[in-house]
Amino acid sequence: MAKMRFKALEEVMNREPRPLVNGEKLTSEYYKTLVFDQPKMQKYLSREAYQAVVSAIEGGTSVDRKMADQVAQGMKAWALENGATHYTHWFHPLTDGTAEKHDAFIEYNGNGGVIEAFSGKMLAQQEPDASSFPSGGIRATFEARGYTAWDPSSPAFISETTLSIPTIFISYTGEALDYKTPLLRSIRAIDQAATAVARYFDKEVKSVQANLGWEQEYFLVDEALFMARPDLVLTGRTLMGHSSSKDQQLEDHYFSSIPTRVNRFMIDLEQEAYKLGVPVKTRHNEVAPNQFELAPIYEEMNLANDHNQVIMDLMQKIARRHKFRVLFHEKPFAGINGSGKHNNWSLQTDTGVNLYSPGKNPRANLQFLTFIINTIKAVHDYQDLLRASIYNASNQHRLGANEAPPSIISVFLGTEITQMLDLMETAVVDRKMTPDEKTELKLNIGRIPEIILDTTDRNRTSPFAFTGNRFEYRAVGSSANCASALIILNAVVASQLTLFRQEVDVLIEKGVRKDEAIFQVLKRLIIESKPIRFNGNGYSQEWVEEAARRGLTNVNNVPEALAAFMRPEYAKMLSELEILSERELHGRVEVEYEKFTKKVQIESRVLGDLAINHIVPVSVKYMTLLLKNVKYLKEVFSPQEYEELSAGRKQLIREISTHNSTIKALVYEMTEARKKANVIEDAVEKARAYDQTVLPFMEKIRYHIDKLELVVDNEMWPLPKYRELLFVR
Ligand code: ADP
Ligand code: MG
Repeated sequence: MAKMRFKALEEVMNREPRPLVNGEKLTSEYYKTLVFDQPKMQKYLSREAYQAVVSAIEGGTSVDRKMADQVAQGMKAWALENGATHYTHWFHPLTDGTAEKHDAFIEYNGNGGVIEAFSGKMLAQQEPDASSFPSGGIRATFEARGYTAWDPSSPAFISETTLSIPTIFISYTGEALDYKTPLLRSIRAIDQAATAVARYFDKEVKSVQANLGWEQEYFLVDEALFMARPDLVLTGRTLMGHSSSKDQQLEDHYFSSIPTRVNRFMIDLEQEAYKLGVPVKTRHNEVAPNQFELAPIYEEMNLANDHNQVIMDLMQKIARRHKFRVLFHEKPFAGINGSGKHNNWSLQTDTGVNLYSPGKNPRANLQFLTFIINTIKAVHDYQDLLRASIYNASNQHRLGANEAPPSIISVFLGTEITQMLDLMETAVVDRKMTPDEKTELKLNIGRIPEIILDTTDRNRTSPFAFTGNRFEYRAVGSSANCASALIILNAVVASQLTLFRQEVDVLIEKGVRKDEAIFQVLKRLIIESKPIRFNGNGYSQEWVEEAARRGLTNVNNVPEALAAFMRPEYAKMLSELEILSERELHGRVEVEYEKFTKKVQIESRVLGDLAINHIVPVSVKYMTLLLKNVKYLKEVFSPQEYEELSAGRKQLIREISTHNSTIKALVYEMTEARKKANVIEDAVEKARAYDQTVLPFMEKIRYHIDKLELVVDNEMWPLPKYRELLFVR
């Protein structure tokens, strides 16, 4: 055991950074070489086929079979020239990560040989054997087939030697079994709702695009150390480990110089990302030791989300080249910062206006405020639904903890916007405003600086922060598919914008002038959503108390957080917007409950195993050494000397022995609790049982193991310690 641990350390010490490859080319020269983007379509497709794809991308029209055949031919020609031998439909099932099943292009040519074949049918639709993907009961066995369908709005790309075609994944009866389908629907919903409102301000607006710029946080751990930690291998997080004497308290990691080996990994990763058209832009060290961040330039949301999934996959592959493993878990190490995935979210009109950017005149600023206020109101009204969409087994460790956004949803606006809302709240009156009052108000609204220079926007404690030209949704977990959060965010804002438009229209019909109608409704929204606005320290205990006084909700466990999904009014909203039918929603929620149960179950088993077959035996061995030592002391020394010399040792033996027997008893009790929970049929009740009766053991058992780690001989300790996992590289 001890040998293995030190061999692992030795391996790490001997690692050389991989040499730099391909330093000669400019990024712009090989950017998107492995993407079948529009310029390549133009080259490889007939004009007709090209037009068909472009209108599918831009107008959401479908591509007919004849055109699909032509597209497939062009795509195949390009793919073969670029070394592809296989193709796959690439999709986002309701698991962590993407799914792919590769098929070779080959088909018999009738002469005993093969040819490379690819048709419109193969491009457009596939029937993967889908019965092993989670569906929450949607795909009962009699309709076990699901199929994937081409999403032309996200271009095909070549991953190693496989042409990957982004697709949606739906059941035979047309229900979404993935993240992409409802994401696309939510993008359409927000487009319609936001366009209708934007047209109050500019009749030229025909569509609104949702943008996403994600920031991916992650940890790197050396492969040899990773392999020596079964908990990391099986659960993605350390289930035990005493904190290192030094971790992040010196604040010396954030933005510090990137270690060469890590930098080589990043360069390698970025080069592959550029070939796949992922516009990665920023890399830096994060707050915790061995924690890093990667962020691209923002893109249209569906594409950006595909790119996030591509990157997560790529990171794992490239990390192996560099003998690292990537940890996407939200809280791989207790006591130090966890990882999130900030989702920078904004809306942009086809006329080029970012609806979350202050404009140059009062009119543009009123539009800006309209979108800000409606977003705040949506977050206020749907705080529980938003939380449900980001809360899960792994993110709960981060959200509850002190150095991450709390489980209370709030909106940070900064002082300038706050002042503007306060002003509107008082300046708008419930009667018809006088021309002077209106001019005054408009003048004030016109004063929002074009770029908001609010230093407090560095407030990192808010789960949902306005950062000058976008909202930064920080509560999203690092391992999540962004879509899980964005489907709901798009939905609630779309729903609120639709209500807003209806209310304003009613006033206009009654003869109220448009601007005045907008002011009046906005004023009410400002007042109603006020409790959700919070510019202070979201990590503080005072905020927890203050939020309770304001009537905001605070939920600290997964089953309860997920329960919000089941509220009829939410199901109604989501189905009215045609984002998720009630059946789809309920199926998905069941999947979430099951995921939670399974994750806790796996963690609990791994912890139990490690405790019993790694920790206890080693502690016993060490204790035996101590016992022998005490015995020899007795033989050698006089009774009085012996008493003095052995007292401490005996105490240590008692300590170790107590920890060991407590661990054994707790593991036994935990196993019994699991057995009881396992026979519960109902997914919700089962998750509750896991949360209430199994989960609490994890911390208790860990406590005793971590105490043992401090006293047992370092050479014997069977697992790499925090100081090694976090500092040796
Ligand atoms: P920080 O780390 O300070 O939050 P970064 O510059 O690292 O900021 O990352 C911000 C992310 O937000 C990037 O992905 C960037 O492209 C994205 N972003 C910038 N402007 C917008 C916008 N209008 N809409 C969506 N995302 C945006
Ligand atoms: Mg950020």
